[in-house]
Amino acid sequence: MVVFSRLRLCRSRAKLTRADMLEISDRALGQISDLPPLPPFARAHELLADALPLLDAPSRISVTESARRNIRLETRGVWQNFDPDVTPYMVEPSNTVLSRLYKGGAFVGPAQSGKTMALITTALRPVVCDPSPVLIIHMDRPSRDRWVEESLNPVIQNSPEIADRLGRAREDSTFSRKRFRGMRLNLGYPTPQWLSSAKYKLVCLTDFDHFPPELGVRKDAPEGSAFTMALQRIKSYLSRGFVLAESTPAWPVVEGEQSNYEPGPHEMPLVKYGIVPLYNRGTRGRWYWECRDCGELFQPVLEQLHFNAELSPRDAGESAEMECPFCHCLIGSQHKNELNRAALLGRGGWLHETDSGDELVPLGDSKVRGTEIASWALNGAAATFANWSDLVSRKLEAEREMEKLGDDLDLARFYYTDIGVPYKRAANVNEGDLSLSFLRDNLQDAEKGVAPDWARFVVISVDVQGTYFPVQITAFGEEGQAQVVDRFDLTVPPADAPNMGQGEEARKLDPARYFEDWKVLEPLAARVISVAGADHGLSPVRVVVDFQGRPGVSDNAEKFLRGRRRAQEGKVWRVSRGQGGWKTPFRIRHDFPDRGHGGKQARGIKLLTIATDRLKDTFAASLKKATGGSGAFFLPSWMRKDEDMLGEYVAEERLSDGWAKKPGEIRNEGIDLSVMARAGAEDKGLLKIDWSSPPKWALGGIGNENAVVLAENAKPRRAEQEARRAPTQINYLKRG
Ligand SMILES: [Zn+2]
Repeated sequence: MVVFSRLRLCRSRAKLTRADMLEISDRALGQISDLPPLPPFARAHELLADALPLLDAPSRISVTESARRNIRLETRGVWQNFDPDVTPYMVEPSNTVLSRLYKGGAFVGPAQSGKTMALITTALRPVVCDPSPVLIIHMDRPSRDRWVEESLNPVIQNSPEIADRLGRAREDSTFSRKRFRGMRLNLGYPTPQWLSSAKYKLVCLTDFDHFPPELGVRKDAPEGSAFTMALQRIKSYLSRGFVLAESTPAWPVVEGEQSNYEPGPHEMPLVKYGIVPLYNRGTRGRWYWECRDCGELFQPVLEQLHFNAELSPRDAGESAEMECPFCHCLIGSQHKNELNRAALLGRGGWLHETDSGDELVPLGDSKVRGTEIASWALNGAAATFANWSDLVSRKLEAEREMEKLGDDLDLARFYYTDIGVPYKRAANVNEGDLSLSFLRDNLQDAEKGVAPDWARFVVISVDVQGTYFPVQITAFGEEGQAQVVDRFDLTVPPADAPNMGQGEEARKLDPARYFEDWKVLEPLAARVISVAGADHGLSPVRVVVDFQGRPGVSDNAEKFLRGRRRAQEGKVWRVSRGQGGWKTPFRIRHDFPDRGHGGKQARGIKLLTIATDRLKDTFAASLKKATGGSGAFFLPSWMRKDEDMLGEYVAEERLSDGWAKKPGEIRNEGIDLSVMARAGAEDKGLLKIDWSSPPKWALGGIGNENAVVLAENAKPRRAEQEARRAPTQINYLKRG
C-alpha cells in the first residue's frame, strides 16, 4: 500500500522549476540530448491566463488548447467548442503526445471515459498546429469505417478551422485518408501492410486489446505487436514521434504464483497481451481526488463506492456514494464532475509511480519511474459518462447471475468495459475438483427412466453420431436443479427405411445419409416419463436435436424439423448448434441463422444456438453443487455400474479459449446432452420462472400442463394422453 502522506508531494507540482525539467530530460533523452526539451504539458487555465500572441507559435500549443480553439464537438445535439473540463482526466494523456521524454503512451480506461474524443482532438491538432503526418489504427476495417463516418467526419465538418484545411477533391476525404493542407491523416487497421510503411510523427492505436496480439503474414514469423511496429514508424521523427495506445482491457489476468514479488502501488495484475502490459511497463498513473473533508488524496474507484448490498441491484445502485478511505465521509454522485475538475486544477489529478515504488509523483517530477512509456489507468467510477448507480446495479446483477449460473461472462464484461480493469476468474469456479470419484460419491438413488419426485418438467436431448442417436432425458426442478433420468442410444433404423437388408446384413442407423432414419426420434415428443411416488408422468417441454454432424446431418435435421412442425409439434422440437468461445453475447438464441456466407447454406428454419462454453461453465458449476445447494445437477445411482458413461460427464477441461476433451477421453456426449437439455430448459423459460408462482408447465403435481395420469401398470393411458395434448397446444399458442 502507498504511504499516503507522501502524496502531498504533488502539491509542489506548481513549483517545479525549469532546471528540474532540464535535469529530467538529460536522464531520459540519452543520445539525443542535444535537442531542447519542450516545456511540461500546459494546462488550459495557465494558457488562458497568459494568452499572449507570442504563445500562438503553433508548435507550442498543447493538444488540449489547440482542441479548445479549433475543434467543435456535439453535446446533446448542440455543436460547441471542445471543453477540457468535460473529461479533465484526458488532458494529461492527450498533451503528453507532444512530450519528448516519452516515445509512447498507454491509456487504460472504461468504455464511457471519452477516449474517442481525446483520440480525435489528439489526431487533429497537427492539422492546425505543427503539420505532420498522423496514423490512426482501428481494430478492423468495419470499425474504422464506422468511426470515420459517425465520429470523425461530423467533427471535421463542424469545426471550421479544420474543415477549411481539408482538401476539396473527392480523394482527399476517404475512409483511409484525410488530406489537409500540409498534413495527412491516415486511417488503417492492424495489418503489417499498414504498420510497415510510411513515416508518421504520431500513431494512435485505438481499442488496442481487440488487435491481434502479434501481427504477421505468417503465423510462424510474427512481426511483433502493433505497438512495437508503430514505434518503427515514428523513428525518423526522433524524440518528437509518439505512439499512443488506448483501450478497455479485454485479456484476462494470467494465473500463476509470483512468489516474493511485490507489485508497485499502481501496478495492474499480470496480463499476457494488450494494453495492460503496456500500462505496467509505463509510469503507471492513477487518477486521484482530494477529499473535501479531510484533504487527503484517494483514488475514486469501484471498491470505494459505498452502497447497501442488501437491497435489490437497482435500489442499491441508487444508494451509491463514494467513500473517502481516510475520514469515511460520503460523496454524492452529483459532486463527481466537480471533483474531477478540481483534480485538473491540482487538487488531486494524475500521480505516477517512482522507481523506488514508495512514492507517487506527477508526471513532470524528476523521480517518476524511468521508462519510455507514459501510462494511465482510469477507473470507471471516475469516468464522466458512467454513473454510479448503473455501475453498482450492473455489478450486483452480474454477481448474482454468476452465483446462480456459474457463468461469469457478464461479470467479466462489467470489469473490462464498465470499470476498465482486467478480470480474474474467481478460483472457486475454476475446474479442478470435478472427478469421477466425486461423481460416484454424489450419485442420487434413482430408478432408470423414473424422474425424481421433485421434477417439474422434462427436456429430452438428442445428439447425432455416425451410426446412432445418443438420447438423454433430464428432469428439472425448482431453482433449476436437474437430474439425469435416462440415457440410451437409438441404433436401429425404422423397419420401413430404405436399404435395410436382413439379419446379419441389416444396416446400421445412418442419420447423415437416410432422412428416413430420423423417424426413430418421432415418438420422443409424446413419451411420458413417470415421476417417483406420483401417479402421473410428464411429457417433455422440449426435445432438442443436434443440427451439426457429418455432411447431410444438417439437411436431414432441417427436413425433420419441418416435418415435426407440420405435425403441430413445432413448439416442442428444437434443432440446436453450438457456438464456442467465452465472448458469445448470449447464452442461447432461437432465431434464423445469419444468411449463409463463405459457402454456407442459408436456412429457412430457426435454430437454437447455444453458447456452449458459457453453458458448460454453468454445467460444471452445477455438477459441483451435487453435494447440495440450489441449481445442482445430479446423476442417478444406476450409472454406478457404467463407469464409462459416468466418465463422459467429466471428460472435458476448461482451457483458456474454451472447454475441450481431456487427453485420452473418447466420449463426452454426457456433457453435450446435458448442455443441450439446459439450453432447452432456458429456451422454454427456466431463467424467468418465479418459483413462488410458476407457470403451468413448471407446476408440481397433476396440475402441470404436461402431466399425464398413469394407469396402474405404470403405462400412460392413451386416451388420457391424447386428451391432454390437445389443450397443451392451445396453451402454447396463447403465450405466443
Ligand atoms: Zn476524507
